Amino acid sequence: MENVEKKKKTGMYDNVLKQFNHAADIMKLDKGIRKILGSTNSEISVHFPVKMDDGRIEVFNGYRVQHNNALGPYKGGLRFHPTVDITAARALAIWMTWKSALAGLPYGGGKGGVSIDPSKYSEAELERITRRFTYSLGENIGPDVDIPAPDVNTNPQIMAWIADTFASTKSPSTRMLNLHVVTGKPVGSGGLKGRDRATGYGVVASIKSWAKLKGIDLSGKRFIVQGFGNVGYWASYFMEELGAKLIAVQDASGTIFNENGLDTEKLHNHVGNNKGMIAGYPESVKIENSEFFALDCDVIIPAALGNQITEANAHLIKAKLIAEGANGPTDVEGEKILLERGVDIIPDILCNAGGVTGSYYEWLQNKRSEDYHIDTVLRMISEKLEQAFERTVNSANKYDTDWRTGAYIAALERIEQTYRERGVFP
Ligand code: GLU
Repeated sequence: MENVEKKKKTGMYDNVLKQFNHAADIMKLDKGIRKILGSTNSEISVHFPVKMDDGRIEVFNGYRVQHNNALGPYKGGLRFHPTVDITAARALAIWMTWKSALAGLPYGGGKGGVSIDPSKYSEAELERITRRFTYSLGENIGPDVDIPAPDVNTNPQIMAWIADTFASTKSPSTRMLNLHVVTGKPVGSGGLKGRDRATGYGVVASIKSWAKLKGIDLSGKRFIVQGFGNVGYWASYFMEELGAKLIAVQDASGTIFNENGLDTEKLHNHVGNNKGMIAGYPESVKIENSEFFALDCDVIIPAALGNQITEANAHLIKAKLIAEGANGPTDVEGEKILLERGVDIIPDILCNAGGVTGSYYEWLQNKRSEDYHIDTVLRMISEKLEQAFERTVNSANKYDTDWRTGAYIAALERIEQTYRERGVFP
């Protein structure tokens, strides 16, 4: 098990480098820029003590990797998960650089988190862990420096604690100017209406673009979702709204199936009362985890962790489309098999960019002291994602390559242009 977990972490980093090198070869990326983008700008590891509820002291390991900021401040989530380490954060930070560039946002890429299983800690302990982690990151984060956001197992409450801790440690006169050090805050604390659903909404916006391109009607189509956290739930919600049918869900607690469709809202309520887990949901049968990806369906939405679709299961997949809600769910070998078999993939840096795009509008809203209406937010996210989809397909066509490589090329061209214009200091 330990080896499998290790491969999953180093595997993500191997994958992002392989994807990058492949795109760089095809587009003939400038050699110097390739060197710059092939490494990260800075990697911060912090080890910080926190007092537990019973008085014990525990030391936690936290990370923030800042890959590149040519286009703007580093941007990307913080996850609280046992798989978080410097290598995982590095891979995820690099993906953020491409994602922001592809979506046309004024951001670079960063990612980090704390290596913990948050279900093992009380709410008060999580608050102290979050605050002390924020304090340890110090001036490495900031509203125009590096702007964290929610990711796996982190949420608006955690973002509010980060914002409050960061702002509280600044001079009182600049306090309000520092709250947008994070996005994904609760609406009462400067958060964006609709940021909660932004990633899932974006996943479905991308699926709609795919369906339009292929002339497919999504109504009545069968889909399955891996992970029923924020992304999995909202993607299911918007797919259901289009008349598609959720027939199976998998998470760390197992796999559930219902031929006639699972009710997204009822499942969401069950998960809310069941420590975030789908296990035991009544209107379903439990099936083997290994059967999940092989299910007869039209669309698969991986919305959990990295390296889930690999050479071990890619040949079993019957779906026409993989819409990557998660970061790095398909590894390089798995992707090769899928492409050979004619399965379409909407790559993560395009498919799940609704989250960071929502974050951008939250950040703008804070900077401008505005308050956007949710309809405006969703419209702006759709527009950005439709453009990113078009850029991806156009560059894939231009270079006669797959969509992931096309998305990379579109992102890299933007960064390359910036370096060409500004040069390298000194
Ligand atoms: N964690 C999300 C992602 O992986 C959102 C990042 C953000 O909003 O900065 O894209």
